[in-house]
Amino acid sequence: MSKKVFEALKWASSFLSDAGRDQNAGELLLKAFTGFSRTQLFANMKDDLTEDVWIRFEKAVHEHVSGVPVQYIIGSEEFYGRTFLVNPAVLIPRPETEELVHGALQRIDRLFAAKPQIKLADIGTGSGAIAITMKLECNCSRRAESCNFIVSGTDISGESLDVARENASRLGADVEFIEGDLLQPFIERGTMLDVVMSNPPYIPTGDQEWMSEVVTEHEPHRALFAGEDGLDFYRRFMIELPQVLAPQALVCFEIGAGQGEAVAALFKKTFPGVKVDVVNDINGKDRMVFAEIGFGE
Ligand code: SAM
Ligand code: GLN
Repeated sequence: MSKKVFEALKWASSFLSDAGRDQNAGELLLKAFTGFSRTQLFANMKDDLTEDVWIRFEKAVHEHVSGVPVQYIIGSEEFYGRTFLVNPAVLIPRPETEELVHGALQRIDRLFAAKPQIKLADIGTGSGAIAITMKLECNCSRRAESCNFIVSGTDISGESLDVARENASRLGADVEFIEGDLLQPFIERGTMLDVVMSNPPYIPTGDQEWMSEVVTEHEPHRALFAGEDGLDFYRRFMIELPQVLAPQALVCFEIGAGQGEAVAALFKKTFPGVKVDVVNDINGKDRMVFAEIGFGE
């Protein structure tokens, strides 16, 4: 039986809310299956959906109710104004991470204005969201003509890197992707980096108990959990970073809420004279740490 756009949305929104899921999921799914923008969807509220779209939509809403993230059903997520393919091999890029990218771009402009070449690495790149966005945003900034941005992304997972490579090729970003453990690929090659960015796993293992199963049962655990206090990766970074950083370098980390002080302390212990900024996200939670190393007072 065919359904009109508004009937489908109304059904989805009450079914989703009864199941305790986000009611907006219906709109996201219907946009994906019709190819409509939000405005087109609202302009066509009284139109009939094709049988095919209605069947796919109904199935997808049931899938989301059972816990599958909408982005895995649609196969993509928006990040910094671009569409990234995602599948269960990669973490779904989060809006908080757009703020990390924004903060990094501002600091690169300030710190490296006169530098003709910048080597940047995104460690634990997942879908490639950070590495690809940095490459494309640096290249379209006004400094692009005089600066060569060499960007690489690494991950411990080969199947994540397949997704990252596909995204880079679709978005036309020249980024090298390397499989390896944290900074080891750069240590082995003797590469010195000007900018290191990472959104590493940072969730304390015990938090799994109260997290939504939409995350814990579907997103890769290697992307999420980082030991008892969630700080395992930052501690490892402090051992490896001194081996790969150029004399003047910027390190940009996403962190979990409440980890700012601990991560700032790790930086101060490892790099005396470092300038560390702990920055809150738009929800007022400490979410980013930026460390400027070797730039003096
Ligand atoms: N950068 C992506 C983003 O912000 O959307 C993904 C971040 S996800 C929180 C962390 C990523 O780190 C995962 O893709 C995971 O596979 C990767 N990872 C976990 N352990 C790693 C390790 N030892 N070395 C390199 N990458 C690792
Ligand atoms: N922000 C993600 C979440 O809370 C966690 C990502 C991470 O551990 N880096 O689901």
